[in-house]
Amino acid sequence: MIALIIVDMIHEFVDGKFGSKRAVSMVDNLNRLISIGREKGWLIVFARDSHSEGDPELKVWGPHAMKGSFSSEIVPGIQLRPEDIVIEKNSYDAFFKTDLERILSEKNVDKVIVAGVSTDICVLHTVCHAFFLGYETYVVEECTESMKESNKEFGLKYMKTIYGTKIIGLERAGEIG
Ligand SMILES: [Zn+2]
Repeated sequence: MIALIIVDMIHEFVDGKFGSKRAVSMVDNLNRLISIGREKGWLIVFARDSHSEGDPELKVWGPHAMKGSFSSEIVPGIQLRPEDIVIEKNSYDAFFKTDLERILSEKNVDKVIVAGVSTDICVLHTVCHAFFLGYETYVVEECTESMKESNKEFGLKYMKTIYGTKIIGLERAGEIG
């Protein structure tokens, strides 16, 4: 089973304080990937920042995407369905202190595709944890973004080199299996 994990496509990182045109313009590509996933029967998971006071990250970035706030909500342009799994995370890593590992294990997932923002932060840390858990990891180049092109390039190269992540184009995403 393949899981598509879509990270932080929430107001804060798309059209909010840490948002970017790059993230906004990626939404259509992401929806295409989600459509491919639905056709293929992938498990669709959304992981969104949902912070509480005291989360270590807040010391670095200041308060952002606080639990229950508008900025932690998934942007309306994303094709989210009621049957999709939504995970609230409190760090860069969608597995850390969440139910994600249990959910993937119950569904017999062996491959994960990580998408969303930012390539070099939350996507990278989530891929890292997936790698530690033994999953084969994939990133679709057109379905992840960082605030700067150079950060995206760094993230993709790091994941490819360090975790053996397969970086593929959107036109080939349907071939994963
Ligand atoms: Zn955060």
